[in-house]
Amino acid sequence: MSADIIDGKAHAATIRDKVGAQVARLTAQHAITPGLAVVLVGEDPASQVYVRAKGRHTVEAGMASFEHRLAADTSEADLLALIERLNADPQVHGILVQLPLPGHLNADLVINAIDPAKDVDGFHISNVGLLCTGQKCLVPCTPLGCLMLLRDHLGSLGGLDAVVLGRSNIVGKPMAQLLLRENCTVTIAHSRTRDLADVVRRADIVVAAVGRPAMVPGDWIKPGATVIDVGINRIERDGRTVLVGDVDFASARAVAGAITPVPGGVGPMTIACLLANTLTACCRAHGLPEPEGLTA
Ligand code: NDP
Repeated sequence: MSADIIDGKAHAATIRDKVGAQVARLTAQHAITPGLAVVLVGEDPASQVYVRAKGRHTVEAGMASFEHRLAADTSEADLLALIERLNADPQVHGILVQLPLPGHLNADLVINAIDPAKDVDGFHISNVGLLCTGQKCLVPCTPLGCLMLLRDHLGSLGGLDAVVLGRSNIVGKPMAQLLLRENCTVTIAHSRTRDLADVVRRADIVVAAVGRPAMVPGDWIKPGATVIDVGINRIERDGRTVLVGDVDFASARAVAGAITPVPGGVGPMTIACLLANTLTACCRAHGLPEPEGLTA
């Protein structure tokens, strides 16, 4: 058996097209252009790549992109003052502070200073609480992208056993909440979980968000299961740097029913969902109907 490959790149392109079409309609019918502000503090090379990609896709979708690049030694007061200005700016519907922040800045304080209605990363404590209590919110982009892939591939997720590997605030925990909302029976595994292989073997859905290259081998996967690999790990192979996931793709593919590749799986969905969240935030801010099929 060889698993279906879930093509995140193609799904993401479809979402970006849908967002672009709705943005064009908003602009034509209501003279509104959704705007996304991205704040980058310091010069972390990976963050610079992500911020550039976010800006490019934002503009391609017809939205306004506002980039704020601040020096690594920017004070917390100055960063908070910028967030205040963005909160008050009617042209800005989404605010994203690129993580990780330099060590002298308190990330929780900074994220919680963002207006929850503009918190397109879905990390503000209000959005976390709303998600946990099943209320309307802005959902973190990576778990939202995983959910869209799962729904598209499986249809209803109700009653399925799901295991989420990893309990971070940005992926594991919100992913588990979304799966619970879809009526899955959810297990969250982490570094202290005992008999991890057995836990994973029971799952119809496996979402791996650990950050360890190929740590989930094929013989942990239940035959026919759907595997969503969130991991992005850089390793050296044959003298060059390549990206691999948290799942051993070759062996898992032989057992699973469907699997996302790395790269080309969850990664492209994350930015597409950021655009979707910005559009959603803009529609809500203007009291307009929300875009269909682009929220959780
Ligand atoms: P974190 O480091 O914040 O969390 C990792 C989690 O994995 C922790 O909960 C940790 O457990 C758990 N873990 C670590 N080792 C093991 C182990 N041996 N067995 C079981 N669980 C373990 O990572 P993130 O959630 O931020 O990211 C996870 C991965 O996803 C990374 O590779 C990251 O690059 C990628 N990522 C990809 C995105 C995308 O767009 N595709 C977006 C965001 C992240 P404990 O809590 O006990 O320490």
